[in-house]
Amino acid sequence: MQPFQFNTTPQVVFRPGAAKDIGSLAVLRCGARPLFVTDPGLRRLGLCDAALGSLGEAGLTVTVFDSVEADPSLATVMAAVEAGRAMDATGVIGFGGGSSLDVAKVVALLLGSGEAIDAAWGVGNAKGPRLPLVLVPTTAGTGSEVTPVSIITVGGEEKRGVSSPILLPDVALLDPELTLGLPAAITAATGVDAMVHAIEAYASRNANNNPLSKMLARQALRLLGANIETAVFDGSNRDARGAMLLGSMLAGQAFANSPVAAVHALAYPIGGIFHIPHGLSNALVLPHVLRFNAPQAASLYAEIAADVFPDLAGEQGAQGCCAAFIERLSALSQKLGLQTRLRDVGIGEADLPRMAKDAMRQTRLLVNNPRDVTEADALTIYRAAW
Ligand code: NAD
Repeated sequence: MQPFQFNTTPQVVFRPGAAKDIGSLAVLRCGARPLFVTDPGLRRLGLCDAALGSLGEAGLTVTVFDSVEADPSLATVMAAVEAGRAMDATGVIGFGGGSSLDVAKVVALLLGSGEAIDAAWGVGNAKGPRLPLVLVPTTAGTGSEVTPVSIITVGGEEKRGVSSPILLPDVALLDPELTLGLPAAITAATGVDAMVHAIEAYASRNANNNPLSKMLARQALRLLGANIETAVFDGSNRDARGAMLLGSMLAGQAFANSPVAAVHALAYPIGGIFHIPHGLSNALVLPHVLRFNAPQAASLYAEIAADVFPDLAGEQGAQGCCAAFIERLSALSQKLGLQTRLRDVGIGEADLPRMAKDAMRQTRLLVNNPRDVTEADALTIYRAAW
């Protein structure tokens, strides 16, 4: 058997209503003065109120940094670091979607270690220590609460990653009640993001692809496949919301240890340059990348096809099953109301060569793809998706 390592968040708490009692947990984990990192939309919706109330009742002095934008910028990270320094933060609580959690992670690192962000980019370069860190996801998509990765937009366009086990938080607090009001479009896009994590983790060529990631990816796909339509069209369904949050976390654990590949590499220029939401960016290229990969990965995709679409269980032969799987994924995006072509989101045909060049910068992801991708291949895939 192939040797492997598996790292994850040491404590995962999954409980409806858990965010309302975060104070007792934060007292133990975050010291007296936590920095609470979130986004302005969640603040306006009042989604943070119960958690902030609980932190106050627990006697903690909380400073709220609520300026995180989607695809967060380095300037936002540095502003949050300043806020943390000014209050002499003893810990960091990230509360929100992947954007807020990613900012919280890197802020905890920079505050705890004093290291420069430029020394931390890439895989394994962040040294730590970091400040104590608790992450509370409010979308069911990125799995950031259990991944060692933080994705930050640099220079307005380039999405760059810090990847190091030091970024895994001390606690992931999963409260599906927080996701009940997630709008249908965000539920759909983030849900497909989680599915992509599981699919890419399962088929990853990374040397650390391992049996735990494979098992987690398959269970994630079962939960996500069975519940994504209900979560999108009946958002108040608590069981579906719970299953989506759990599925997204399991997919996060899978790809944290068996990293994602070309779907993400080709999605990043769409998010970085055109500021299309991350999950939608993935959905736009998903079927086209899988079709490109099929000559090398058909049997892997066939193995997981029935996890998402149980009626594909009877499909004969890896090639046919893989083709049916890709068609069904494409139809699912459409059914969920997501745009399906790059031209639908304002990308011009003339933009595609620049995007292909940009995608090639994501070498840390492309090396994991089941099939080698050249710049010409990336352009062909974008043309098919356009
Ligand atoms: P997001 O955090 O950018 O949030 C998107 C929108 O959803 C925001 O307007 C937010 O206010 C709103 N929102 C969030 N939760 C809500 C709720 N419960 N109710 C109502 N509105 C809510 O979206 P995301 O897709 O979760 O995160 C995307 C970011 O995560 C990207 O920057 C992406 O690169 C990154 N990412 C990170 C990892 C990782 O492992 N660290 C993995 C995948 C993606």
